[in-house]
Amino acid sequence: MDHAPAPTLLIEPTLDLRDKIELTRLKPMIEETPALRNIMGVAKTRDGSNKQGIKLFPGGVLILGGANSAASLRQMPIRYVICDEADAFPWDIGGEGDPMGLIAGRQTTFPRRKTLEISTPTIKDASRIDEDFERGDQRRWVMPCPHCTEEVAFRWKLLQWTRTPEGVVSACWYVCEHCGGEIEESHKPHMLAAGRWLPTAKPKVAGWRSYHINALYYPIGLGLSWMELAQEWLDAQSDPAKLKRFINTRLGEAWEDRSRDLKPRIIAQRAEAYAVRDIPPGCLLLTCGIDTQDDRLAIQVLGWGASEQAWVIDWLEIPGDPARMFRDAMKQQGAFYDYLNKPFRNAWGKDMRIAAYAIDSGGHFTHEVYGFVRSRCLPRLMAIKGASQSGKPVLSPRPRPMDVTSRGRTIKKGVMLWMVGADTAKHWVHNRLVADAGVEPEARRLRFPAGLDEDYYLQLLGEVFDPEKNRWVKRRGRRNEALDTLGYAVAASQHPEVRVHRLRKRDWEALSRTLEPGEAADAESVKDNKQEPANDDKPKRKRRTGGKRGGFVKNW
Ligand SMILES: [Zn+2]
Repeated sequence: MDHAPAPTLLIEPTLDLRDKIELTRLKPMIEETPALRNIMGVAKTRDGSNKQGIKLFPGGVLILGGANSAASLRQMPIRYVICDEADAFPWDIGGEGDPMGLIAGRQTTFPRRKTLEISTPTIKDASRIDEDFERGDQRRWVMPCPHCTEEVAFRWKLLQWTRTPEGVVSACWYVCEHCGGEIEESHKPHMLAAGRWLPTAKPKVAGWRSYHINALYYPIGLGLSWMELAQEWLDAQSDPAKLKRFINTRLGEAWEDRSRDLKPRIIAQRAEAYAVRDIPPGCLLLTCGIDTQDDRLAIQVLGWGASEQAWVIDWLEIPGDPARMFRDAMKQQGAFYDYLNKPFRNAWGKDMRIAAYAIDSGGHFTHEVYGFVRSRCLPRLMAIKGASQSGKPVLSPRPRPMDVTSRGRTIKKGVMLWMVGADTAKHWVHNRLVADAGVEPEARRLRFPAGLDEDYYLQLLGEVFDPEKNRWVKRRGRRNEALDTLGYAVAASQHPEVRVHRLRKRDWEALSRTLEPGEAADAESVKDNKQEPANDDKPKRKRRTGGKRGGFVKNW
């Protein structure tokens, strides 16, 4: 606007966002930048020339558009175009095609046109910026290593850190890929200043430049420190949404769903020496997921230990009419009830009962499931239903009261229905399966017994995540109850009186003392706590137990 004024179009993903950006970003920038303040001052609000979305300045005009509005992109010939958050642009606006095509049409009269596309990348194979970055010469900011002076571009995998046993990052440094020297964050200001953009590829389109930068480059004091980034990364490991956000916004990379590469045969090879229904050491709590089919019930029991490590304990299908099985169970009879009610015995001869059950109420037996749950014939038995929206928590924080119809009689608000983020649970399962690749059994996040049949693993991988539709889809001809029931068992683990995901080391130790007497507490705990410090002289806080309703640990 000051150096080479020309008609300029700034496009935000939507018109709403455009208005917001104009007020919160553009206006302060113009007011606080002397060069811009001067030129904008000339054409001040006379005859409405600087109305919303249009800013006149000597030699040019700045138009603000929204990529969701074809009209706002079709104003006049434009020399410079700035596309902000281009990954959020639609691929087609109102049947007129790609907004980028409409924009290019406005620029053709200017031989010295320029287009600047800026974005956080989103999902691999669906990301505009990722594609356009790869089309260009892929420049990265390289800087001399303070030790060997070879040029380095900051890459996430070369950041190193140490952690306290509580998992808090306590130190952080970067390793030079050339000399192995340790680069401290305090080296950064000098390095940044001595750097340059280095093309790393031949552009696929002549003159197409592309640039990549990530959060490791944040100047000190502007954005997160390396330690804060490492902590954010660690905290994101158990949450696919957080992990995706980290990879997109901090690493500046497109999210690639790795679950497509999982194969049933490979997962089946992870089966360990413990038998189905055996309780391995370290497994201290059980939850159960039940799926209702027209001619059978599918059941999966999941075991839990410190750090939310999970074991598949059992998987079975009971053939028969579900309505009849529920009726029998309410009378505390039948194979289905007997199975669920029977305690499991661990290697110390201690009996363990299932702490919570989640049963799917979707399908053809909704009211039968409601009746079964209402009977309270099992403790912490929850009726669940898959949430229709994606990205919901594995278990909704608050259940909804539902009417129950039983033998022609309606009981108002007779049962509580819990919504389950089934897609979130599936991400949970797949993330663990992916993360466990090449990991020793003791350190795996999801462990399998010997003796599960091939069909179990086929069903476990019976669905694949479609990032474009943002939902899970069944693989052709596959059943998926093993995956569903595993997800339900995960949901059951978050019952407010159980809350496996909120249990602390101390809670697990207390469980271990009860269930594994004589065993050194916490033998199965996480591996990377090398430097166990002398924390014992710290004042001990009172042991936290499960939910508000108090003390599930002592109920066991
Ligand atoms: Zn070096």
